[in-house]
Amino acid sequence: MVEHTLVVKNARIRGRPLDKKYTIVVDGDRITSIKEDANLHGETEIDAQGRLVLPPFFNMHFHLDSVLTLGDPRFNESGTLWEGIEIWAERKKKLTVEEMLARVEKAVKWMAAYGTLWVRTHADTTEKTLTTVKGLVKAREEFKDIINIQVTGFPQDGILTEPENLELLEKAIELGADNVGMIPHNEYTRFDGARSVELAFDLAVKYNKDIDGHVDETDDPWSRNFEVVVRETIRRGWQGRVAAGHVTASHSWDPVYRNRIFGIAAKAGVSIVPNPLINIHLQGRFDNYPKRRGMAPIKLALEKGVNVALGHDCIMDPWYPLGVGDMLQVLFMAVHVDQMMGYSELQKSLDLITINGAKIWHILDDYGIEEGKKANLLVLRGKTELDALRLMGPPLYVVKEGKLIADNTGGESRILFRGKWEKLDFSQIQE
Ligand SMILES: [Zn+2]
Repeated sequence: MVEHTLVVKNARIRGRPLDKKYTIVVDGDRITSIKEDANLHGETEIDAQGRLVLPPFFNMHFHLDSVLTLGDPRFNESGTLWEGIEIWAERKKKLTVEEMLARVEKAVKWMAAYGTLWVRTHADTTEKTLTTVKGLVKAREEFKDIINIQVTGFPQDGILTEPENLELLEKAIELGADNVGMIPHNEYTRFDGARSVELAFDLAVKYNKDIDGHVDETDDPWSRNFEVVVRETIRRGWQGRVAAGHVTASHSWDPVYRNRIFGIAAKAGVSIVPNPLINIHLQGRFDNYPKRRGMAPIKLALEKGVNVALGHDCIMDPWYPLGVGDMLQVLFMAVHVDQMMGYSELQKSLDLITINGAKIWHILDDYGIEEGKKANLLVLRGKTELDALRLMGPPLYVVKEGKLIADNTGGESRILFRGKWEKLDFSQIQE
C-alpha cells in the first residue's frame, strides 16, 4: 500500500462537475493525482465530506505596516480618509520593527486561517526611517511557512511632494521591496501626477520590478492618472507587470472615456485591484444623498478584458475599523456594490480572489487543483461557489504546499506555526 503525504477524500472541486466527488492525492508539495477512487491513504487524511475544494485566496492590496493599530493613538471618529491619514502620521512616529512584526504576525495568522496564502502589502516609504520596509521585508521571510508576502514600496505622501521622497522609494527597492508603488492623485498637480508615474516606471525598469500603484483613489471624475499608467505600460513594454489599486475615480468618469480607457488597459495587460470594503466606506464622502458607490466598475472592466483582482486594504487600523482577513467578505461586498448577482456571475466571481491574483503574481502555471501543480488548497464550509459567498467564514482546512497549516473544525481555529499548533483568537480584545 502506497502511503501518500496527504489525501483529501470526498472533495467537490471548483471547475469540475459538482455531482462528482474526488480524492486529491499529494506527495511532498505537489498534487500527484485526482481520482474518483476513495480507497487511498496518506500520512494526513482529510475527509472533505462533499465540501468545495479550491485553490487558496489572494489579497492583492494590503497595508501590513498599519495593521491592528486601531485606537492607537486614537480612534477615527469621523470615519474619513483624512482623519485616518492624520492618525497614521502620529502613529508612525513610534513604529519599530519589533512592534510591527508582532502585529503583522497576528494579522497573517488570521489571513492564513481564513484561506489567504498570498498577500501583497504596501510599505509606506515616506516614513523616513524606512522601518516599514525593513520590517515588512523581514516579515516576508519570517512568515513564509504560512503565507507568501510581496512588499511594494509605497510613497504614501507622494513622490514629488518632498525632495527626498523619490530617493526613499529607490532606497526601499534596494532594501528588498518587490514592487514599485506610486500615488499620482496625491501629488500637488495633475502634471506632477503624470510625472510621478513616469518616475515610478523609471525605477521599475532600472531594477526590473513590477509596478503596483494607488491610482485615482478619489471620486474626482477628472482624476485620470490611470491613462498615464496605461500609456507608460505600453511605452516601456511592461505589459502584464502593472497593477493599479483602487481606481475609484473610474466610477465617476464619463462613460465614453471609461469605455475607451478600459479597452486600452486590457490591451496593455494592466490589472486593476479594487478594495470594496474600504472603497464603499471612504468614497462618496463629499456627496449628499444619493451617494456614489465609489468602487471601480468591476463588471465593465471584466467585460473589456481587464484582469481584476481584489484587495482587503486594511484590518483594524486608522482607516478601517473592521475586518478579520476574510477575502470572502471582500468579495461579498464587491458583488453587491457592482450588482454582479447573476447566477453565473456569482459563480465566476470567485476568480477575483483566486486565479486573477495568480495572474498578477505570475504563478498561473503552478496554481490550481490539478495534477502536477503545487498542493495549495482550501476545503470550504459549503459545497458550491454560492455557498462560499453565503456562508463565508474560515475554510475548514487550509493546505499550503502539501502541509495542513490551518484547521477550523470543531468550533475553534488553529494554525501550525513554527512546528506547533496554536489556537487563534479573532477578538478585538485578546485575553
Ligand atoms: Zn491602499
